[in-house]
Amino acid sequence: MKTAFVNGNVITIHQDHPRAEAFLVEDGIFLQVGSRAEVLAAAGDAQVVDLEGRTVLPGFNDSHLHLLNFAYSRTKIDLYGTSSIAQIQERSRQWLAQRDLAPGTWVSGAGWNHYAFQEGRMLDRTDLDQITTQYPMIFTRVCEHTVVVNSKALELIGIDDSTPDPEGGAIGRDAGGRANGVLMETARYLAYSKVPDKSVTEIKAMLQDAIDYVSKLGITSVQTDDFETFSSKNWRGVLQAYQELEREGKLKVRVYEQCLLPQIHRLKEFLAAGYHTGVGSDLFKIGPLKLLTDGSIGPRTAYLAQDYSDDPGNRGIAVFTQDELDELVCTAQANGMQVVCHGIGDGAIEMILNAYEKAQREHPKPDARNGIIHVQITSRAILERMLKGDILAYGEPVCVGADMHCVEDRVGPGRLKESYAYRTMNEMGLRVPLSSDCPVDSVNPIDSAYIAVNRKDLTGWPEGGWYPQEALTIDQFLKGFTLDSAYAQFEEDKKGSIQPGKYADFVVLSGDPTTVDPKDLRTIQAQATYLGGRRVS
Ligand SMILES: [Zn+2]
Repeated sequence: MKTAFVNGNVITIHQDHPRAEAFLVEDGIFLQVGSRAEVLAAAGDAQVVDLEGRTVLPGFNDSHLHLLNFAYSRTKIDLYGTSSIAQIQERSRQWLAQRDLAPGTWVSGAGWNHYAFQEGRMLDRTDLDQITTQYPMIFTRVCEHTVVVNSKALELIGIDDSTPDPEGGAIGRDAGGRANGVLMETARYLAYSKVPDKSVTEIKAMLQDAIDYVSKLGITSVQTDDFETFSSKNWRGVLQAYQELEREGKLKVRVYEQCLLPQIHRLKEFLAAGYHTGVGSDLFKIGPLKLLTDGSIGPRTAYLAQDYSDDPGNRGIAVFTQDELDELVCTAQANGMQVVCHGIGDGAIEMILNAYEKAQREHPKPDARNGIIHVQITSRAILERMLKGDILAYGEPVCVGADMHCVEDRVGPGRLKESYAYRTMNEMGLRVPLSSDCPVDSVNPIDSAYIAVNRKDLTGWPEGGWYPQEALTIDQFLKGFTLDSAYAQFEEDKKGSIQPGKYADFVVLSGDPTTVDPKDLRTIQAQATYLGGRRVS
């Protein structure tokens, strides 16, 4: 069965034929791309869809996000943007009233920020007890480093007034020395470890909801890090959920799993089970080993090569020693795994490059396509080293919108001249697959486009753009979110552009991002999403 799509403004992301009017799809694949006349001549008795002049792009491919974590966050009470404790209580009571929860169900909320509260004080267990004492409750602060639980939860966790603080964490206490329900840093795990794991059935339902959401935004492929979403870190359950969704015909996006396995015994167990990069199908495939080598800029946990400008003596946190990182990377590379590492600070990025270079010396692999995710605090020397080693630079333009408010204090203007250098990376010839890192930031690729091209946050600040010399052109952005992301999963010959022989994954947009005034990019919406030639959203 053939379908001809005609009268379109088709942006192909194919260097030699950047524009087309029409294309023909058969069995989920683009058969022909060209003018209306060419396509209709080849169409025979094909069904014809009139695109009515609308813009078509290859489906977006988000090269790094946390789909299951995003899905999980959507099952929690949404506390983002709340401005008072009273409002949190009201929202939570309404949420509970709309549900019929089994006794003992843990109720989770996320996104509160006490600096915004009219009451001018911290949230504590007595506030949550006024919502319910029937169910245990756990409310995560916007930073994710602090939670508040109610009395029912404290009792189930087994924390009383005499419980000592765990190493690396603190149990909040009131003026009388009683545990007040606030759990900071590692003390959070006392609570998280009591929240029961989600079943495969629950994970599937959550994933379907998140997949529906991203599909409506024109996303047809995701590269997602999911294995440690729940405290049991059960990667088998996550794989089972995706594989069952695929069998049931419910995967509306193609999934490349970034396998977070940061301990050598877990990596070896995974390899021994027969998994490595590329195992799977057109819809669900095992991707790279994923590692987190440092934190982020806001809380000064990104690992810098020099001290923080606003905290002398502090360089942040390196999650691994060089030896630990080398062992993980070399083991992966020797066993058929691509590797991607989260690296934000220049100190972390240098450690990652050391490990990649060592892996290439010990287990040479000409087309390894190892990469660095975020790659924020950089220097020309680091970028040159990445280019020389053929290391992918997974850029995340949307993070600029958040970081621009604090990073100048953190690292000073000197280091920033060669950081968040997405334009320079492109011009040097580095491969720059783009991503959202959702749920940390907005998953809508159009929001990423706005920030990448304008170098402004979503409120339009600052007026002239932040380090605007590193703004991407819209063409660089679109290629980054399609073809370069496909390259990051060894599938540039199968997707990422509208060309004969590739999967017919595409999105119909309400406007043309290449001609709209960049300040109006966010007026563009996805109107229809097709996966393998079939309309899915
Ligand atoms: Zn991430």
